[in-house]
Amino acid sequence: MALIVQKFGGTSVANRDRLFNVARIVANTRNEGNDVVVVVSAQGDTTDDLLEKAAEITHNPSQREMDMLLSTGEQISIALLTMALGELGCPAISLTGWQAGFRTDRTHTKARIQRIDSERISNELAKNRVVVVAGFQGINRHDDITTLGRGGSDTSAVAIAAALHADLCQIYTDVDGVYTADPRIVKKAKKLDVITFDEMLELASLGAQVLNNRSVELAKKYGVNLEVCSSMNNVPGTIVKEVVDVEGMLIKGVAKDVNVAVISILGVPDVPGMSFKVFSLMAQRKINVDIILQSSGNEGYKDVIFTVPLDEMEIARKTLEENMGRFGGNKIEVADNVAKVSVVGAGMQSHPGVASTMFEALYENNINIHMISTSEIKISVLIDKKEADKAVNAIHNAFVG
Ligand code: ADP
Ligand code: ASP
Ligand code: MG
Repeated sequence: MALIVQKFGGTSVANRDRLFNVARIVANTRNEGNDVVVVVSAQGDTTDDLLEKAAEITHNPSQREMDMLLSTGEQISIALLTMALGELGCPAISLTGWQAGFRTDRTHTKARIQRIDSERISNELAKNRVVVVAGFQGINRHDDITTLGRGGSDTSAVAIAAALHADLCQIYTDVDGVYTADPRIVKKAKKLDVITFDEMLELASLGAQVLNNRSVELAKKYGVNLEVCSSMNNVPGTIVKEVVDVEGMLIKGVAKDVNVAVISILGVPDVPGMSFKVFSLMAQRKINVDIILQSSGNEGYKDVIFTVPLDEMEIARKTLEENMGRFGGNKIEVADNVAKVSVVGAGMQSHPGVASTMFEALYENNINIHMISTSEIKISVLIDKKEADKAVNAIHNAFVG
């Protein structure tokens, strides 16, 4: 007998038929003699709808109240799925994040899980029940509800799998596994049988939302056996694990991130310490800076240009404008019409020519590169947002065919 954690995303539980389909997968797993903990997301577009409802009331909502609102989506799913399991004769109980013991830090809407007090889940499993847990949520030390950020149910699932030392954590979604690019953008994308944690982490961080990047980080840290598979087709999915035989494909995938903005600070005095002042301000506000470009000094001045997540652009701009005196720039410009497109592959550091193949594919399609960043296992370029899908296809074609 094994302990299996199964997570089902929003599309997989979107309506009655899909809920019963999920209930059958869960009941079959239990009937095969396994203990099962299920984590579910909010149905379909529920989270987006809740965000819209809040925006109808205010553009500056209390983050605590946002979490109170957003956490309701998952609560609907756990109750309905548990009822569906009951209809199939499968004993089950639903638990909200706090009932399941998810303790988080205090950062509303982007909370991090600190620990899981898993006695309640273990007790329910001992009663021979399937435990259906609300993803994406927990409580902080003031007993206020928190949420984990978009796509956070993946993280809930992996965290439970780690806490319970589960034998397997299956992430069921609306595609058959992890592909070499988003199969909705690249028709010729190929499904991967296996991918390493590091490659998956890069892909997820660079925009492949099939797995939330924090969930991959946790799976790597705690050695969770992770599989991404389809809730709609009964076909083998993708295994995510520590080491993969690297003889195979050099490039594992192409990812696109449109949640990105560029901040340019023009006319910064070309003296030591100015970049430190700019980026320490960003760090204080917990703004994630990604690609950084600094022009060489010209007549005593330079430009400092960097990218931030799109939803942090305004706060970054405001912070810099309020503190311009500290680093002495004369103008701040922001641009949100950009996208980051990346190639990822653990083998690339020992293979010359990856960058030139990527840039050639862009050149052949007349796509201009604004910024470039590289690491041992990825190359990212910043380009115009309207060309992003064309770029993903061109780069995929150059590497995967
Ligand atoms: P869920 O609701 O199950 O959490 P998500 O929408 O968060 O599902 O993630 C699944 C989606 O991720 C797919 O529908 C697909 O469009 C997208 N995606 C992006 N990149 C990839 C990739 N490399 N492989 C598979 N799917 C990808
Ligand atoms: N419902 C949340 C979201 O839409 C969490 C999740 O689906 O993982 O982001
Ligand atoms: Mg998701």
